[in-house]
Amino acid sequence: MHGRGWAVVVAGLLCRAAIGAAPAPAEPVTVIRAGTLIDGVSGSPKSNQVIVIRGNRIESVGAGAAPAGARVIDLSSVTVLPGMIDGHTHVFLQGEDPAEGGYDVQLLKYPLASRAARATVAARRALEQGFTTIRDVETEGAGYGDVGIKRAIDEGHIPGPRMFVSTRAISTTGGYNLEGYAPEVAVPKGAQLVDGPVEARKATREQLEHGADWIKVYMTHRSWVDAAGNLQSQPTLTVEELKAIVDEAHGWGKKVACHAYGNPGLKRALDGGCDSIEHGLELDDAAVAQMVKQGTWLCPTMAAYYGYWEPEGTPVGKRDRKRAEVHGPSFRRAVKAGVKIAFGSDVGGFSWKDPIAKEFPYMIQYGMTPMQAIQSATSRAAEMLGMKGQLGVVAAGAYADVVAVSGDPLKDVKALERVVFVMKDGKVFRDAMTAR
Ligand SMILES: [Zn+2]
Repeated sequence: MHGRGWAVVVAGLLCRAAIGAAPAPAEPVTVIRAGTLIDGVSGSPKSNQVIVIRGNRIESVGAGAAPAGARVIDLSSVTVLPGMIDGHTHVFLQGEDPAEGGYDVQLLKYPLASRAARATVAARRALEQGFTTIRDVETEGAGYGDVGIKRAIDEGHIPGPRMFVSTRAISTTGGYNLEGYAPEVAVPKGAQLVDGPVEARKATREQLEHGADWIKVYMTHRSWVDAAGNLQSQPTLTVEELKAIVDEAHGWGKKVACHAYGNPGLKRALDGGCDSIEHGLELDDAAVAQMVKQGTWLCPTMAAYYGYWEPEGTPVGKRDRKRAEVHGPSFRRAVKAGVKIAFGSDVGGFSWKDPIAKEFPYMIQYGMTPMQAIQSATSRAAEMLGMKGQLGVVAAGAYADVVAVSGDPLKDVKALERVVFVMKDGKVFRDAMTAR
């Protein structure tokens, strides 16, 4: 009885203490003065805008005065944009030089910690270049390493973009590297290999359980130029296998990204209900029509196919040139037909030392306006990620992911390589303007 009474007194004291406590300090307010604002959604830029940021969100955007007492960041001489989104990256790849052993060496000779250390650098590189969000489409033999990198970023241990991760990826027996070793030697594979709808569903469940935000599948693998001079691609998963994956992923509220070059793997990807086609080197009229009808995204990754070609005249050299030759017209067909397109660079496939923004000129060369290309890397990519209005836009209510470039990217798209300011989640990561 006594004890209980004492407890009531203590509870009363605690209660009074809570009421008497000072209110939590208001979240800090920051104001960005944008000389030119490309907001990610509007068809044309706006001049002299004031972006009010409270905590990690944008509170308002307009021509009004800055609220009293706010910290002011002056970006009146540069072009301000939403933090950009790269829809196709590999932080666990380093653009391996074939002369140094290429892809295989990554999997065979580097301890996972070494690969994670380099992935940490890659994540930082994305953020430095104004890419405040990435969809990282598989770790290439590094298991669930992307989940760990994402967590380290989210917990503030290392700098990096918001990450949507897809963990191990899925292909079939005979459908992914490493290959070409003696059959008696067990070598690691760059993806989780499955055969049959049961294994496909199980792999999907495993990957989702361990933190996949997206499921990545390979619908084509080897490619070559046939006797008639056409690009051919080996299909991997069957429609039934892909349907099991898509059904499982959709049940978890997640989406499926399908690497696919051309038919028949491309057709299987679309018939199986995939959410995004990666690369899409040979989208014919039927594929484009099906993508429009089904609302399938295209993540084109053009630059990667123009960067490095094996010597002319060799079978692989012929293939490399053919891939680049068909990709541009395929992309143009998709743009014309109104396929939903999200920017993707495939960085990691090429070196993280190269600018991610080198993808933009190809998109413009093959039919997009500069504004369309910018929107593909902002509001459109956000829509693909299910983050419409939250990311890829400078507007009230969105996360405060804001970048600035020197020059006018609508006149010279190379300006997107000249990032002078990066804010992610309301925190300034890079500011070359004030430093000057
Ligand atoms: Zn890729």
